[in-house]
Amino acid sequence: MEKSYYCEKLENTLHFLPDGVKYCCSCTEGIGIKVEDFNKFDMKEVISKRDDYIKSLKNGELPKGCIGCTDYKEITMKSQILSLFKLFNKNKISHIIIDHFKQCDCNCTYCAQKKLFPNTTQNYELLPIIKSLYKNNYINSQQLKVEFQGGNVSVLKEFPLLMQEFKNHKVKEYVVLSNMIQYLPELETLGENDIVTVSVDAGSRETFQRIKNVDAFDAVIENIRKLRNNSKVQMQYKYIILHNQNDNIEEVKKFLDIAKEIGGLHIVIDIDYNDTFMTPGVRFDVPKHYYDIIKFIDDYCKENYLGYSIRPSAQNTLDKGYSE
Ligand code: SF4
Ligand code: SF4
Repeated sequence: MEKSYYCEKLENTLHFLPDGVKYCCSCTEGIGIKVEDFNKFDMKEVISKRDDYIKSLKNGELPKGCIGCTDYKEITMKSQILSLFKLFNKNKISHIIIDHFKQCDCNCTYCAQKKLFPNTTQNYELLPIIKSLYKNNYINSQQLKVEFQGGNVSVLKEFPLLMQEFKNHKVKEYVVLSNMIQYLPELETLGENDIVTVSVDAGSRETFQRIKNVDAFDAVIENIRKLRNNSKVQMQYKYIILHNQNDNIEEVKKFLDIAKEIGGLHIVIDIDYNDTFMTPGVRFDVPKHYYDIIKFIDDYCKENYLGYSIRPSAQNTLDKGYSE
């Protein structure tokens, strides 16, 4: 019998980008449609194209953007039964990714957003579209996850209004990526099921400035401390290991010392995505000293009772010893 596939993300996700929408989290690969004019945004068209993709997978044909992805699954009897229970919410969106703005108040050396979307102005406003999706009953409020990517939310003028619109309805979970250069009081309203991720990538002002091209390390640390003290939100304090920039134990130790001093932060470790999935076909051999850094982090966190995790894609690269 021919194989048949399904992808849960494809069925539930709407990812708003500056030039269109995708049906999953990836802004580099994945599948979606271009939208010429967001003033004429047509959800029926978006759903109809998505259903074509669902049908392709069902027929065992993988769209180009899905090849190599690990998220699609083979359809089994069990998944078919589960999908029967979901019929009621068919066509409803339970994951909205807000990524239509790529403007930011810093300029990280590793940033892919500005390379992929060099436009310096925001193409369209999302709020009217979200309002219309609610009005026309396209959103599964009971299960809704709202994720702000970007760009940086502090330069997204619509941010407070979008938050207010979502708060007028039910949201199960928020995920917000922010560089925390500016303090956003709206984040204080998030709860313990929600996540704010801040990629600091440095333990000192000098290294931060070299990586982010802005002198804002002290402000970021104070804003992290303030949000930690003023909210229950889960805070991810992230360090992306960047070759020849912050890949040394001294810098990592300073970064961890700050986490220990503030308390209540979950440390996340990653490897520069330019060395891994952003350059397919180019082999990246993990330098030996990366393993020493990871061992140091592991020992430090255990000794000081700090929670930490390594991003699955980075762990996969570390396990293999290379990425290509
Ligand atoms: S299989 Fe992967 S690339 Fe394709 S829609 Fe699902 S998550 Fe996106
Ligand atoms: S904070 Fe994010 S969006 Fe801004 S420059 Fe850095 S990587 Fe790019």
